[in-house]
Order: sequence, then C-alpha cells, then structure tokens
Amino acid sequence: MEPQSKPWERLWRELLESATGRAPAAQAEPGAPDCTVPQMTEWHSLAEVEAYAAACLQSLQLAGWSFGWDRALHRLGCCRFRERRITLSHYFVEAYLEKDRFQVWRTLLHELAHALAWERRRHAGHGAIWRAYCRKLGLVDETVTTPCDDFTPARLQHPPRFALVHAETGEVFATYRRAPRRTPAQWRRCYIPGRKDETLGKLRVVPLPEPPAQG
Ligand SMILES: [Zn+2]
Repeated sequence: MEPQSKPWERLWRELLESATGRAPAAQAEPGAPDCTVPQMTEWHSLAEVEAYAAACLQSLQLAGWSFGWDRALHRLGCCRFRERRITLSHYFVEAYLEKDRFQVWRTLLHELAHALAWERRRHAGHGAIWRAYCRKLGLVDETVTTPCDDFTPARLQHPPRFALVHAETGEVFATYRRAPRRTPAQWRRCYIPGRKDETLGKLRVVPLPEPPAQG
C-alpha cells in the first residue's frame, strides 16, 4: 500500500498547479477537506475491502457514515442518505474481487461520490454535482449503471420453468421463471420483432421439464 501524500506535498502540488494554471485553485471548496482517497490495493477478501472503505470514509471526513454489505443481485452498490450508510452487494464483490477488482473500487467510489454530494451540497441523484464529485475522486465518465456480468451465485440460480417457443418449429425465444401473464388471445397478437411474418400467432408458452434432483 502506497502512503498517502503528506500535507506539504499536497500544498506544493497545489502551488505548482496554480502557478502553471493546470488545475485552477477555484475548484477547491473553501473550508472543505479535499477528496483524496487511499490508493487502491490488492484486495483478496471482503474484510480488506471493508477496511479500505472505512479508510475512505475517514479520509473524506464523512463522519457518521458507515460501510456494510447487502445481498443485492441486480445492483452493485447503494447509498442511503438517511441512514448515512454505503453498502455493496457481497455477491458482486465476491464474484469480482479476483476477476476485476477495479469494478469493485469504481462502485465504491460511485457511492462515496453520492455521500459527498449529499453531505456537502444536499444533492441526490446522478446530476452534475454528483459527477463533479466522481471526477474529484478520480472517476472519469462515471455512469449510472455499469455493465457487469451476472454475479448470482450458482446456489441462488433458479432454472427457468417456462419457455416461449415457436409452435411449429420449437425454436425457443425466451425462458421464464414464472409463467408470463398473457391470455391465449393476447399471445395470438404477439410476434418476435423483425420476424413478424413467421412468428405472428405462432408463439406458445410451454412448461419446461423439472431439472433432475441433486443426489
Ligand atoms: Zn448512483
């Protein structure tokens, strides 16, 4: 882990930058601590991520804020203003820790930018103020959603029980865990976009056989 820059180093850098005009000092918020987070390290466990998150909260002076885990399967992280709490999906972090820890770091910073935008400017959402805090933390072009592979652990994956098929060819177009709520009359008006001629009125939902029981 690299040491954080010392105050005199930061002062020197700021003087140098304002003298060369590269980083206008006007960007700094008067009286507010800067947005420096510790260097990202080689995490190998959730505990290490947790310790890093705690160090970030401390260096950003987000007093009263805490970090924890949630069990989300369809989002990576969450920032709750009222509870002053940032959580990451532990399923996501477990899946990405070795595969792509930059994604974990990025998600944490995304949520920290929400916390800063709320604490300092009472800004919620993904507007210009949030984006500015993202940039201060080192995230460029941060977006609302991050493309990410499915991280549902195998033990929580439920096999589909229904399939949308072509009545004549048997081609499968979609699978479902629950039967879609459509009447036969509604299905008769449905078709696969781009393949109207061959699929209009030919779509059927059929139950799939149960997977073999685990021995
Ligand atoms: Zn967000």
